[in-house]
Amino acid sequence: MAGADQYPFEPIMNPYWSDIVQRLTPYVPGEQPRETGIIKLNTNENPYPPAPEVLAAISAATNADLRLYPDPAATSLREAIAVADGVAPAQVFVGNGSDEVLAHVFQALLKHDAPLLYPDITYSFYPVYCDLYGIDRVEIPLTADYRIDLADYDRRNGGIIFPNPNAPTGTALPRAQIESLLQLNTQSVVVVDEAYVAFGAETLAPLVTRYPNLLVVRTLSKSLSLAGLRVGYALGDAGLLEALERVKGSFNSYPLDRLALAGATAAMRCREYYDAANRQVMASREKLVAALGALGFEVLPSAANFVFARHPGHAGAALQQALRARNVLVRHFAKPRIADFLRITIGTEDQCAALVAALNDVLG
Ligand SMILES: *Cc1c(COP(=O)(O)O)cnc(C)c1O
Repeated sequence: MAGADQYPFEPIMNPYWSDIVQRLTPYVPGEQPRETGIIKLNTNENPYPPAPEVLAAISAATNADLRLYPDPAATSLREAIAVADGVAPAQVFVGNGSDEVLAHVFQALLKHDAPLLYPDITYSFYPVYCDLYGIDRVEIPLTADYRIDLADYDRRNGGIIFPNPNAPTGTALPRAQIESLLQLNTQSVVVVDEAYVAFGAETLAPLVTRYPNLLVVRTLSKSLSLAGLRVGYALGDAGLLEALERVKGSFNSYPLDRLALAGATAAMRCREYYDAANRQVMASREKLVAALGALGFEVLPSAANFVFARHPGHAGAALQQALRARNVLVRHFAKPRIADFLRITIGTEDQCAALVAALNDVLG
């Protein structure tokens, strides 16, 4: 599996290890190649650079003040997020990437007697956090056409989490459907992971004021071109955020450094720049979907900056290897139901064209 060579964990029993670590299977991120000249379409990074104002803000913050701790409350950043997303600063919690925010959410809000519910095919960090924190869960199968059917979540639960759009499928649910779930499911927290929402789905941010059990999780890694800065956040009722603050204050009081705070705050104020970049990504996606279709691929409808596609005549693992041999990296998951799919990040027009050329070569 891609990236597995970077994580040579042996299933050994070491008497110095805690029980939980002996049984832990960590999340395996997509390969980050060291070679140059690779077309990297495997980890859903944005193909376009951060806004110039972001780099200028980070440069300006690169000064002697780095000897001082950063603002533990991240006040300026939370204010900028509140303005951008139309909520109050008290409804914003920030962390070192949304992966860290999600870790706190699992520990603070999703561990209960009743099981946590999430889709069988979804972000593969969710089961990892469940194992880390000892959270009971039930994986709810996607429909035969790989969609989330929220009617399947109408059962006893200690929490519900899913990405919208879902990953790695890319399919999105309309806001109204999720609002119906919120009206039904009032006894536990519903977490909507909006890592890819800016690429064509509807945000639930305006609903956090109305539903005290709704938490929306966002990241600057994908739609704001800042995967390298590690900034994510949650929007929700102050009551929910207080739980996250307790965990954060018991774990790392300064999760965002001065440079991250400066860059992220600037990014939240560059909506026009990012809207244009993300419109380009969406236009490239539609072109790529057409090109893949012409090559015989079945492509799931995507509202994200990636597509999930399979070819009836070729196994997913073999296709991934063949592309790797042609210097194109895409993601493959050796998992039931999706082993024949490739998850392909939308690159620049040139990168998409190079992928299509490599596929033409592979498929003959
Ligand atoms: C990429 C991704 C994240 C993590 O983003 P970071 O902020 O970079 O940690 C969270 N959820 C989903 C569904 C993602 O795809």
